[in-house]
Amino acid sequence: MAFAQLAHVPAPEPGSGPWSANLRRDKGELVLAGHALSDLADAGTPVYLVDEEDMKARARAWVDAMGDGDVYYAGKSFLTPAVASWMLEAGLCIDTASEGELRIALAGGVPGNRIGLHGNSKSDATLRLALEAGIGRIVVDSPGEVDQIAALAAELGTVAPCFVRVTTGVHAGGHEFIATAHEDQKFGLSLATGAAMDVVAAITASPHLEFLGLHSHIGSQILDAEGFAAAARAVMAFAGELSSRGISVPEVDLGGGYGIQYTGLDPKPLSEKDMIAGIRSAIEASCQEAGIPAPRLSIEPGRSISGPAGMTLYRVGATKDVMTDDGVRRYVSVDGGMSDNVRPALYGADYTALLGRDSEAELVPTRVVGMHCESGDIVVKDVALPADVTRGDLILVAATGAYGRSMASNYNMVRRPGVLAVSDTGTAWLVKPETWEDVLGLFPDL
Ligand SMILES: *Cc1c(COP(=O)(O)O)cnc(C)c1O
Repeated sequence: MAFAQLAHVPAPEPGSGPWSANLRRDKGELVLAGHALSDLADAGTPVYLVDEEDMKARARAWVDAMGDGDVYYAGKSFLTPAVASWMLEAGLCIDTASEGELRIALAGGVPGNRIGLHGNSKSDATLRLALEAGIGRIVVDSPGEVDQIAALAAELGTVAPCFVRVTTGVHAGGHEFIATAHEDQKFGLSLATGAAMDVVAAITASPHLEFLGLHSHIGSQILDAEGFAAAARAVMAFAGELSSRGISVPEVDLGGGYGIQYTGLDPKPLSEKDMIAGIRSAIEASCQEAGIPAPRLSIEPGRSISGPAGMTLYRVGATKDVMTDDGVRRYVSVDGGMSDNVRPALYGADYTALLGRDSEAELVPTRVVGMHCESGDIVVKDVALPADVTRGDLILVAATGAYGRSMASNYNMVRRPGVLAVSDTGTAWLVKPETWEDVLGLFPDL
């Protein structure tokens, strides 16, 4: 068998692995919340689909698991005014990291006091907008920001609510976390060098700033609680030090990075409840040791809410069989690619895909690729798809809801696809598909 030596990775069927809760097969065809993919494709392809009830359920699961504490949805993973309002309704707050995200959260009707603002380089304009909106928390990320925020708060006659982002030396992703004493990255203030201590002291000394708590974000795609627990221990040890200087830490925000399944090979992440229980027990143990009361907890999940709820529907164009050292690989090209999902090119991220229709053909090792002028323009690196996949077929790629549309580009002058919310009650655009007028309209009149 010419195909035998290449990775043979069948996609999991709906109802398992990375697929959203309301995707099914009906007489062989994929159906999302009662809508056949072939009907959804009438809106044009590529198109991002969001399983609306699935996304809302994931948001509620975090709120339920959290109990007393706040869940900030990380807007950078995928934010629209409607999504912001869904999150608000589910009991979440919104975490923003730019003026644009802040504007979208506000446009979605989220009150300022339920919004957080991040960023390693915040502009005066962004900070002013945040303060005018009555922002709930600004996460301070560098020493210079203390004076910058204090001056703006003074000018606006307000007091700015501040968290301090600390670097704990814990970096996590997948199953592993590493702990290092030194830091060589742009985010946060070091516990080890005393930078975090200096900034907390400066905030507490300013009449225009209020110190609300400490923030830590250790990485992404983290599947168990160990890395968060290690970070929590480091943060709580620092809170103990602050306490001995008379500074109390009312709240600790442990950031986002809760992992999801992208393919059938990925292990299942810990449930929301077990994750929160693991984090809480680490915090409580550290607080006992430091002799301080346990602070309020907040977290910032992004991809674990938006990721598995989203999918991308593409139409197949050219196909070809390519001889490799290990046998024949089928290349199936689709009508999008790195412009609508840059993660494979950016981080070597893996995805999986299903053919939209029924097929009895044997499964063959396939690579789904985009239509862009880069050989790294890969959509799904390895998946076993039926041998009869052909031009005009529909392909559905799982778990593209986070960092897909939010990182999309117009590379090769493509139009960025729209995002369609799909539910039992109907469909609605969350983001409209770009038109040629949108793209050509960017250029000055000739
Ligand atoms: C990216 C980010 C998040 C969300 O990460 P996910 O992996 O999408 O959960 C949360 N907080 C901060 C500070 C981040 O940078």
